[in-house]
Amino acid sequence: MTDKAGADLDVAEVEVRYGAIRALKGISFHAGAGEIVALLGANGAGKTTTQKTVSGMLRPTLGGITLDGNRIDGIPAHELISRGVCHVPEGRHVFPRMTVEENLEIGAFRFRHTDQGDLDHVLGLFPLLKERYQQQAGTLSGGEQQMLAIGRALMGRPRLLLLDEPSMGLAPIIVAQIFTIIREINSSGVTVLLVEQNAVQALSLADRGYVLETGEIVLSGTGAELLADDRVRAAYLGEELAESSGAGSATGGSATGGSSTGPDDLGEPH
Ligand code: ATP
Repeated sequence: MTDKAGADLDVAEVEVRYGAIRALKGISFHAGAGEIVALLGANGAGKTTTQKTVSGMLRPTLGGITLDGNRIDGIPAHELISRGVCHVPEGRHVFPRMTVEENLEIGAFRFRHTDQGDLDHVLGLFPLLKERYQQQAGTLSGGEQQMLAIGRALMGRPRLLLLDEPSMGLAPIIVAQIFTIIREINSSGVTVLLVEQNAVQALSLADRGYVLETGEIVLSGTGAELLADDRVRAAYLGEELAESSGAGSATGGSATGGSSTGPDDLGEPH
């Protein structure tokens, strides 16, 4: 249940440093209102850093971020929540000693009271949480905790939902449920920025995707284009490149250098 339709996110030339380390080297990408946009990349490519920067947990050293045309970079996370930017970080981070009910109430804190309609919506999406309503969150299974973390974010009525590795460590059947729910959330208009190691599922769901490699976006395209791209298939789906294959079908042009952990020879994004 949302206040308004999804938000339009624009990230322009954003650089983020951890001291001397340049984790993001001037990345630009866009998530249109109501889109699902996937960020892919090897370990350490900068996916989590990107999400933390969009959600206000990190401040860019260069570049700008706009939400519906308004600059938001530099605005702290707790203020961005009231603009509808809700982040489900990697590792879920539910409050373990609080019940499911209390965790969901915390998600609604910006409204000062829990809206019954929002609660019904979340419990409708996640009937399991209804069954476990008075259970301490720390005693839930990994999949249930992921559902609670997403449910808690939904209680904040997101217009832009940031999901960092929602499928991590979960059994395939639970992963399938989580992806179905992401689609359902998106169908109500919420823009979704999805970080996933699970490239096939993420690109099957996404309208568009970007591939990050050591702090730079090296490839972009629609979900279908990236899924069909030889370079993506080789790097993320473990497939051998055919001898004769040249440039892939996704948006890309001149080659950039590869790394041992990421895809080689990926083209520049547009
Ligand atoms: P993973 O898939 O492993 O989570 P990622 O693509 O999300 O990786 P990030 O966590 O964004 O990558 O890290 C990007 C780079 O920034 C890495 O080189 C990482 O070591 C570095 N980095 C991340 N957090 C910090 C930090 N707090 N201090 C110093 N360097 C950091």
